[in-house]
Amino acid sequence: MSESGGTEAVAHDETESNKAARKRRRREPPPDPTPLPGLVDAHTHLAACGGRDPDAVRAILDHASAVGVAQVITVADDMVDARWAMAAADWDPRAFAAVALHPTHAAELHDAAKAELEEMVADPRVVAVGETGLDHYWPGRSEACASPETQAEAFRWHIDLAKRVDKPLMIHNREADRDLLDILADEGAPDTVIMHCFSGDQNVAQECVERGYILSFAGTVSFANAAELRAAARIVPDHQILVETDAPFLTPHPYRGQPNQSYCLPYTARALAQVRGVDDADMAQILGDNARRVYRLPLQ
Ligand SMILES: [Zn+2]
Ligand SMILES: [Zn+2]
Repeated sequence: MSESGGTEAVAHDETESNKAARKRRRREPPPDPTPLPGLVDAHTHLAACGGRDPDAVRAILDHASAVGVAQVITVADDMVDARWAMAAADWDPRAFAAVALHPTHAAELHDAAKAELEEMVADPRVVAVGETGLDHYWPGRSEACASPETQAEAFRWHIDLAKRVDKPLMIHNREADRDLLDILADEGAPDTVIMHCFSGDQNVAQECVERGYILSFAGTVSFANAAELRAAARIVPDHQILVETDAPFLTPHPYRGQPNQSYCLPYTARALAQVRGVDDADMAQILGDNARRVYRLPLQ
């Protein structure tokens, strides 16, 4: 009896310490990757990564530069976040902004927000209108999320804005492939369309490629269960592919669930190189060149 009780107690202790270890690991940042020069993080959220003052932004970008990620595009979700993105781009020459109301926040696109966004996108440090698009996952799951109809209306406004200012349109698409592609075709797409965190299958990838859109891949392409996404990443021509962190989310394999930052980008760039059967350095050059061309970034 006492022995079996003792065994139980040991087993219980082990479960507790495993859980604690897992919890600790989840908070722990991934180790630095081997540097891979020439990269640009095509989509991150500096404010959500803790970059809310000049020193914090500099620290994040110093860390990224040290492993070869020389420039980043920091992206807004709502109006408060848009002001953070503008500030980061102002504080550090390695940061550029993209501003818009995220589809889940589409109900906040009233006249004052439109006027402020129009003023922001005229700034030379704003290199894209985004992220906008459609999110059909959250309606019904979160009461705060805008309805699909409201999202569609806001998406059309952002498409028009991108065309008016002649800047790339950065798309967020969650479970809305068909509606999203139909609205883009109906409105007439701007010259440059970037499908951020591309998550479609080969067919959707093929349609986007044929339309001339740019497909940006995040850490999801390295996940163990992402065979379909890797198949999609294989068919994208060299001049239509980007890499992004979408930090602080979507940390690449094998650090999934741990905090993500721009310095983790080389993990995903290497995953793409492997998927496409090319050399890491060549892949990085292609990905970096595309970002600099698409966002018209100044050379550094
Ligand atoms: Zn997104
Ligand atoms: Zn994002």
